[in-house]
Amino acid sequence: MQDVFSYIDDHRDSYLKQLFPFLRQPSISTQNVGVRECAQMLLGMLKEIGAKAKLFETPIHPIVFGEIHSPGVSKTLLVYGHYDVQPPDPVDLWKSPPFEPTVCKGRVYGRGTADNKGQLFAHIKAAEALLRVRGKTASNIKFLFEGEEEISSPSLRPFIETHQDLLKADACLVFDGSKHESSRPTIVCGLKGMLYIELRTRGANRDLHSMRAAMIPSPVWRLVHALASLKNQGSRVLFPGFYDLVRKPEEAELEAVRNVPSIVANIRRELDVDELLGGDDSYYYNMMFDPTCNISGIQAGYTGPGAKTVLPCQAFVKLDFRLVPDQRPQEVLRLLKKHLDAQDFNDIEIVQHGELMPSRTPVDHPYVQLVAEAILKTTGQKPVIFPSMGGSGPDYFFTGLMGFPSVWLPLARHDSNNHAPNENIVLDDFLEGIKIGATIIEYMGRIQ
Ligand SMILES: [Zn+2]
Repeated sequence: MQDVFSYIDDHRDSYLKQLFPFLRQPSISTQNVGVRECAQMLLGMLKEIGAKAKLFETPIHPIVFGEIHSPGVSKTLLVYGHYDVQPPDPVDLWKSPPFEPTVCKGRVYGRGTADNKGQLFAHIKAAEALLRVRGKTASNIKFLFEGEEEISSPSLRPFIETHQDLLKADACLVFDGSKHESSRPTIVCGLKGMLYIELRTRGANRDLHSMRAAMIPSPVWRLVHALASLKNQGSRVLFPGFYDLVRKPEEAELEAVRNVPSIVANIRRELDVDELLGGDDSYYYNMMFDPTCNISGIQAGYTGPGAKTVLPCQAFVKLDFRLVPDQRPQEVLRLLKKHLDAQDFNDIEIVQHGELMPSRTPVDHPYVQLVAEAILKTTGQKPVIFPSMGGSGPDYFFTGLMGFPSVWLPLARHDSNNHAPNENIVLDDFLEGIKIGATIIEYMGRIQ
């Protein structure tokens, strides 16, 4: 691969020149700011390297698809990424303008540098380097880039379901997420699923003087009691059946977790947390294998300065459940409803906001080994292998709907500030990502 690596090193400056206009173009999906313009730009970049590319309309933001077909090649790698970004707020906490990429101490700062435009761009440049140096790639490449990831990918599933032939591949590769805190190259073999809901309770038809608290039931207490029945003071979810479908980790997965370098004490210090749920030793195990019931937000009554005695007329809470294989969001929702009914909480209104299935590719799958080899070859380092990460994403669409293995290979670091001010990517990691991407494309040709 030395010829390709030298080409990549020689083009460092030109990569930045091409990346910067892409970062300057806002693409905030939740506010519909600049998303279509960004999709057009991406389409142009794919065509520019010689891919057959097309823009697919969806009910919200377009999907950009591209394809490189090499003659006489049988294997196909699908790369997935997203070109939409989170809003830059709070803007005054940025040290440089969010949509003006700025280089400082070996990092590029700007919205989308890490999540996910910078990482996505590395996929394109990996394919380009192979085409320019060798004239062909050892596996076919399909690029699937969506503009709705930051609003939970509502159009992606129907798109995949109706374009199975177009998207057919042997494996999926995603440059997204964050590396292990040690900054060693990291392979992620699965993502947690998600069920996001809101619970609402109502009391009288209006807020009342709290002198009526002796006679009129409080919807806030009602919500608090319902919530208390869902989880104990540790991390155990209490409603019946929640853990029934949780898949037991394989021995190879447990081994991978044992091999994750533990810097948990540092993490605790950095976050100012004295004690972790389950203790330091199970930090990575819990992150990967433990499903959660989290309160994302809760609201009721008077929360302003000073005292105001009031009996509020309503309360609500937003809950996110991170799920692991083989839990299913709709099944968890059914069990939750059943539990609330059984506890006489059947007046509580449940509003659902979103769901994602969990995914997992076995750590000992030949494709995972191939990616690990490509990383070793490129960086001289053995990657940290995460059987799963704590977060969620549309990975199940590839492993479940399409039925092929998928790994997420983050180029960003734990302090890349995804979704926050001063988002950044380390320039050397970005270049390394292009090299790893090119090596995986080449190695794909060998897989049986
Ligand atoms: Zn994101």
